Amino acid sequence: MKNKQNISLYFTKIDTTNDYCSIVGRPILLFFKLLFVVGILSSCGEKKNVSTEQSTTIPENISAKGKTIMAVFAHPDDEIYIGPLMSKYARQGANVQLVTVTDGRYGTGQTDLKPGEELTTLRHKELNCAAEHMGIERPIWMGYHDQLKLKDGFFGHVPYIQEIMRKMDSLYSIINPDVIITWGPDGGSNHMDHRIVGASITQVYLSKSKVKDVDLYYVATPSSHIVDEDQKLLAGVADDYLTTEITYSEEDRESTILAFQCYKSQYSEEAMKKKAERLRSGDHKVYLRPVLMSSTKTDNLFQLVDQ
Ligand SMILES: [Zn+2]
Repeated sequence: MKNKQNISLYFTKIDTTNDYCSIVGRPILLFFKLLFVVGILSSCGEKKNVSTEQSTTIPENISAKGKTIMAVFAHPDDEIYIGPLMSKYARQGANVQLVTVTDGRYGTGQTDLKPGEELTTLRHKELNCAAEHMGIERPIWMGYHDQLKLKDGFFGHVPYIQEIMRKMDSLYSIINPDVIITWGPDGGSNHMDHRIVGASITQVYLSKSKVKDVDLYYVATPSSHIVDEDQKLLAGVADDYLTTEITYSEEDRESTILAFQCYKSQYSEEAMKKKAERLRSGDHKVYLRPVLMSSTKTDNLFQLVDQ
């Protein structure tokens, strides 16, 4: 972190005056949450059968010390998806800065709390708890409304997203990352918030010239890890695209399991137990897609096809 004090000052309280809970919204959120969990579990439970020869995994002989990773996700608990990766690089001396965009106010999950401030406060504490277990910097809590004011319609939602992007841009300048990790178009579980947050930080990234080399990655679940054909379409990424495979240790895995257990408002003990079992029996890899494949200019649209 280049300037943590500035960040905490910048991100004080953002509009939380309206409670957007609805009877319709809650089951939808729970549905996506379920998909998310299934995605995580499936990604860890099966072996991958593609070659790793083409992987652009960050070589172990390149030190992570002094490098800065900016991880941008929508909700408190999304970051568990790359928990072992963050734990690994934090342990190696990298500055790992997680940015959580929304306040998760509709994620009632396992609690009796109603959507709103009390639940938001609890979820913020759970996020900090998870970060401590993963050994990363205290996360930046942007505090925007879960579901990104979709219920306010076009004229409520769009300016809200644009405001988020301006704040993301400020964060980008302050954090000054070497690597950005976020969701791609699949959103991990096809969750709308995930997809919008990934697209928003991508646009912030693409709006800048490459004065400094910053690598952008989309974390994803390989299609080969998903059984259901419809889920492959909605939330899978073909294995060929996931050319960066980050392996991690048992220590990083156990840190992530402990981090996951912070989210008592979201997951039952049974779900946590199953998550731990899947992680322990999985392939100990996080899969990512590098967003920019080439920086060579060309006037041949079919250059890659002809190669
Ligand atoms: Zn989420």
